[in-house]
Amino acid sequence: MIHKFDVVIIGAGGAGLRAAVEIPKEFSCAVISKVFPPRSHTGTAQGGVCAALSNMEDDTWENHAFDTVKGSDYLGDQDCIEVMCKDAIRAIIELEHMGMPFSRNAEGKIAQRNFGGHTKPADMSDPYGKRIPVKRSCYSADRTGHVMLQTLYENSIKNQVNFFSEFFVTDLIIDDGVSKGVVAIDIRTSEIHIFHAKAVMFATGGNGRVFRITSNAHVGTGDGFALVYKSGLPLEDMEFYQFHPTGLWKLGILVSEAARGEGGILLNKDKERFMVRYAPTVMDLAPRDMVSRAIISEIRAGKGIRGSDGTDYVYLDVSHLGKKVIDEKLPEITGFARTYLGVEPTKEPIPIQPTAHYAMGGIPTNVNCEVLKNETGEIVAGLYAAGECACVSVHGANRLGTNSLLDLVVFGRRGGKRIGEFLKTASFTELPKNADEKTKELISKLLNSTGKETVVGIRTELQQTMMDDCGVFRTEELLGKMVSKISELKERYKDVHIQDKGYVFNTDLIEAIELDNLLDTAEAMVHSAYERKESRGAHTREDFPNRDDANFMKHTFAFKNETGKPNLKYKPVTVTRYKPMERKY
Ligand SMILES: Cc1cc2nc3c(=O)[nH]c(=O)nc-3n(C[C@H](O)[C@H](O)[C@H](O)COP(=O)(O)OP(=O)(O)OC[C@H]3O[C@@H](n4cnc5c(N)ncnc54)[C@H](O)[C@@H]3O)c2cc1C
Repeated sequence: MIHKFDVVIIGAGGAGLRAAVEIPKEFSCAVISKVFPPRSHTGTAQGGVCAALSNMEDDTWENHAFDTVKGSDYLGDQDCIEVMCKDAIRAIIELEHMGMPFSRNAEGKIAQRNFGGHTKPADMSDPYGKRIPVKRSCYSADRTGHVMLQTLYENSIKNQVNFFSEFFVTDLIIDDGVSKGVVAIDIRTSEIHIFHAKAVMFATGGNGRVFRITSNAHVGTGDGFALVYKSGLPLEDMEFYQFHPTGLWKLGILVSEAARGEGGILLNKDKERFMVRYAPTVMDLAPRDMVSRAIISEIRAGKGIRGSDGTDYVYLDVSHLGKKVIDEKLPEITGFARTYLGVEPTKEPIPIQPTAHYAMGGIPTNVNCEVLKNETGEIVAGLYAAGECACVSVHGANRLGTNSLLDLVVFGRRGGKRIGEFLKTASFTELPKNADEKTKELISKLLNSTGKETVVGIRTELQQTMMDDCGVFRTEELLGKMVSKISELKERYKDVHIQDKGYVFNTDLIEAIELDNLLDTAEAMVHSAYERKESRGAHTREDFPNRDDANFMKHTFAFKNETGKPNLKYKPVTVTRYKPMERKY
């Protein structure tokens, strides 16, 4: 079946829906999602979305921009960061006007709370002197993403967007360097659909499922990354993957930084508040890369608590906040601790460990969400990306908490606007013959395969080895092992079989394709990490413990190569007003 739309957006999370709301009504717009739209991962975001509104205390967008640059370990492009932080204030008020129910302060204004790495100068006349935490994150209890997604979904419906729910995109149609649409499988029937479009936007979220312990939903398999990579376009900065310090022990389910923003503290086995030693000024509110490293360092030094299964954790303690604060401001995450670990957070500390959380890298774009063809900044006509799957780059080597939801609404809108302009003059170009050929072959190969490998077998090995060898701490030796592991797993994948041979809701089939996508994204991550011989943000090389601005103040661009070893190219970082400094908190 062939559909024709002016624009097709893949992904119904915050980025996809914010873009859809912005598409002018005279153009037809389809949003494709592999899950029912409000089940997208954005709906699980807990802590908040930041903007220097100054509702609780004085703040400026420049403070926010400086924190984001510093948080990124000076790898974020400063021109893009300025755009985001400046627009943040307008973007939040706009969400309020769209109907998003924020929590309120005593004056009835949008309430704001502390979050890691968000600071302001202790003395406003000395902007680069000592900095102290600032309340910058706007929230709706600990369900911020949920209410944001519902608000954007309602507004997309109002904007007459056509939804294709439970459709799985398998291929991007690029012909003569021009993007012409996508191919998708209707998960209900396994029927193939071609979406012919003048403009295509990827808003497909992250790939946390490449790791064993992750906060990401099962759908976080990096399909967008992989489809772009497979079609010969680059992936930027894939070596930078964020581990959130506080996932529930063993499960990885997130306990939002909001818990520390409200005053929660981290404790080791001796009940010592160990962050005092790692970040004396902001302590538990240091950025995520630092706190994750601190937790693992404590565990390595024998200061973790040994769990029943032989693995170690540390404590997050919120019990001193009192029942009222916990019930009003952190109801959901403390509920998770009760349900999944049987711990009562009002009385006892919560066992936590770092959990794979967020891809800083992704599909390279400019500040208007146009996808870059290469490291020189040339764009692919008609192709856009926004949200976690995109790399603008505003997060650089380490994202600050609550800057992702902000990224979605600022860049989702900018992408939608740019598409609107593009559509004024764009016309449909002819589809290549047999545009769905590759997907047909893929389905038939998987349904008919009698190979001996299983999807779950390969996926489990991938997730465990990525956790062990490409996690918070990395070395040449571990990454080298991982390079060989990926090629071994890719070879074995050729021999994978699935049990369900039917056409109705064949989730075996979908999971097999998702695994192929995970393997591709892992390949780009591991090779990019292997070649970055320095430590910066979330990429910590124990064999190269320092940041090396002379050689590595640059973005990695990984291009797929049939040998299995991607070609790596580099693009300089844009520096405007903030000179790189040592990153201390
Ligand atoms: C537990 C958790 C809590 C978080 N809390 C916060 C927070 O408090 N503040 C903050 O700023 N950030 C937070 N983050 C990060 C932030 O929520 C995400 O980065 C962001 O929501 C990603 O949004 P997105 O629109 O890019 O994609 P997503 O919301 O992940 O949506 C992806 C969409 O793409 C679709 N899709 C993917 N592949 C395909 C395919 N092949 N075919 C069809 N459709 C496809 C999916 O169906 C889905 O609709 C949190 C993340 C997690 C995991």
